[in-house]
Amino acid sequence: MEIFELYSIYNQCNGVSTDTRNITENSLFFALKGENFNANNFALQALENGAAFAVVDDKNLKKLENNKLIVVDDVLKTLQDLAAFHRFHIGLPIIALTGSNGKTTSKELLHAVLNTKYNTIATIGNLNNHIGVPLTLLRMTEDTDLAIIEMGANHQKEIELLCSIAQPDFGFITNFGRAHLEGFGGIEGVIKGKSEMYDYLQSNNKTIFVNFDDAIQTDKTAKSTRFGFSIENNSLANIQITNANAQPMATVELNGIEIKSNLTGLYNIPNIAFAVIIGQYFNISLENIKEAIENYTPQNNRSQWTKINDKNILLDAYNANPSSMQVAIENFNQLANPSKLMILGDMFELGNESDKEHLQTINQVIETKIPTIFIGEHFFKVQVKNNVVQYSKNIQDFFNQLKETPINEELLLIKGSRGMALERILDKL
Ligand code: ATP
Ligand code: MG
Repeated sequence: MEIFELYSIYNQCNGVSTDTRNITENSLFFALKGENFNANNFALQALENGAAFAVVDDKNLKKLENNKLIVVDDVLKTLQDLAAFHRFHIGLPIIALTGSNGKTTSKELLHAVLNTKYNTIATIGNLNNHIGVPLTLLRMTEDTDLAIIEMGANHQKEIELLCSIAQPDFGFITNFGRAHLEGFGGIEGVIKGKSEMYDYLQSNNKTIFVNFDDAIQTDKTAKSTRFGFSIENNSLANIQITNANAQPMATVELNGIEIKSNLTGLYNIPNIAFAVIIGQYFNISLENIKEAIENYTPQNNRSQWTKINDKNILLDAYNANPSSMQVAIENFNQLANPSKLMILGDMFELGNESDKEHLQTINQVIETKIPTIFIGEHFFKVQVKNNVVQYSKNIQDFFNQLKETPINEELLLIKGSRGMALERILDKL
């Protein structure tokens, strides 16, 4: 079937579905394959559950092909092509973002800001890959004014593909960090891979928002249309971390207006700044920008403060990589409380830089002199003996140890890769 034919079917449908357990009535079902499933096997079920049509690529279904079962060569490619076709036809401004850290936070802040004036859609949660991006694009309707598309990547050419589908008019890269080093091939690989977004925007004469404070970014975007929010440029004056109820939050002051965020850590300032600068670019008033940012609270244990048994805990268990770990430790080190403890878990996907990066984190911690418990095989393997640090090979060992020596400190930082799921610690404190 030609893409324009499928597009006319899509236009008769009530959006797109991919999960048989969660079918929107009258939607267009795409039978995607994952590592552990092949939705071709559930396509008939999807139709029974209310989907209007199902797009499949299992040739065995060919003999069943009818006016509800659409057999194509490759369902994923068809989904991406349909999304690109829709994007082209609907023709509204799209802002794309990628980067190593802070994508979802920046996206959520910007969404809140732009929504004060425009009907804006944005990536839901973290649906930022080769499937999530097309699904997000297909949520755009005639009523949508603007779309914000988060793009994630862990190897080369991924952002290039996502940009070719989404064809953004605006874009920004939150930062280049030491994340997914294995798939990208070191930090140089990260810069190259993420810069595919700049390459797309520059070669199509589109607009890039650049953080001038980040030396790597200014280097890489010499020829682009640039916007900045450098502290030296004084566009965002008076950045500080205010200490309310021992749970410090980032505050910025702009043209006499103070924005008190619910985000902790100086590393969130650039995330806030993107929302402010781009909001201003799209003519949102400072008052509305302030209100939108102040109403935003992070989710999913992304640097969230919580209080348990009189302990203030900075729960940053959503993810970790060497760059975000480094700034999280720096930030925690700046907090004035004599009774601090860090519980830090392994960082994954670092390939042959794993030992070096874990060792570097241990050395940074030892320098801070903050008592710290490392959890996981990677830290355990490269451990450095010192009286402020302890090591547990896995979370179970840590729990066993807790029974003997409970934690007395008042202020805690908990951070590790998603696979470590360190939020499990909360119940045991
Ligand atoms: P993912 O790769 O999972 O999509 P992301 O880039 O969307 O991650 P967020 O979900 O916004 O990132 O934030 C995850 C964590 O990254 C936060 O909890 C915080 O620890 C850290 N972080 C957020 N912003 C920054 C930043 N600008 N620099 C360094 N670390 C950051
Ligand atoms: Mg994200």
